[in-house]
Amino acid sequence: MLTDCHTHTHNSFDAENDTVSERCERAIELGIKAMAVTDHCEINRFYEHEYYNVDAPTEEDVFGYKDSFESSAAEVTAAKELYKDKLTLICGVELGQACSDEEACDKVVNDKRLDFVIGSMHELPGRADFYFLDYRKEDVDKLFREYFDELLKLCVKNKFDVLGHLTYPLRYIEGDYGIKTDISVYRDNIAAVFETLIKNGKGIEINSSGLRQKYGKPFPSYEYLKLYHDMGGKILTFGSDSHSTADIGKGINEVMELAANAGFDKGAYYIKHEPVFFKL
Ligand SMILES: [Zn+2]
Ligand SMILES: [Zn+2]
Repeated sequence: MLTDCHTHTHNSFDAENDTVSERCERAIELGIKAMAVTDHCEINRFYEHEYYNVDAPTEEDVFGYKDSFESSAAEVTAAKELYKDKLTLICGVELGQACSDEEACDKVVNDKRLDFVIGSMHELPGRADFYFLDYRKEDVDKLFREYFDELLKLCVKNKFDVLGHLTYPLRYIEGDYGIKTDISVYRDNIAAVFETLIKNGKGIEINSSGLRQKYGKPFPSYEYLKLYHDMGGKILTFGSDSHSTADIGKGINEVMELAANAGFDKGAYYIKHEPVFFKL
């Protein structure tokens, strides 16, 4: 069974200008049975329109996620009804930095329209998104340690269904900057994250976007998928993290195969925050 539980639409600032309907039509064409729309909602930028940490911000760098969250949830809820005979459309959100504002976070995760919350960490407290950092000037080891510490806090906070793209900074550090990083030195930190997730009954996603980017591997890569499995992890969703209609479903077959090789016999998608399992 083909699913894609991580997709963005025009309600995400960094995605192409396609509607939820266009994404749905493509999913149906590909034979995807369940698709989650998970537009960005960065909790630390929920109310205020703030500039991202870029040198010359343009209008496009100004965001208030409260509004885009509302647009996304409304559009997906309407499309659910429209496509109900052809596609299980999941109303999701990619929640960034959930620990940064408890009130805003609760407002989003308690929204009754939501089926599914991906908990992501795109930036460290007081820093810009990992996308914007210049890794030639950064202490990469220090960044990774802080990244895993913050991820653990996010898991302890427990305001999501699955943890998003574990090892996300590698997209830029190893992929874009070509700085080889041996993340096996953080194995204990990653194990602590898994232990907390498993204890809380939460899951992880395998995010296939890295396969079509310079990094060339999913987030997380096979070794950590295997570690999650061997520690007793059972809940796994698959997501392309597509920011365009063309990327819907990309790499999903590959990551399902990796999951099977790591020992998983089931994948999952979420309805009303409950995992629905399917055979791999
Ligand atoms: Zn993300
Ligand atoms: Zn995403």
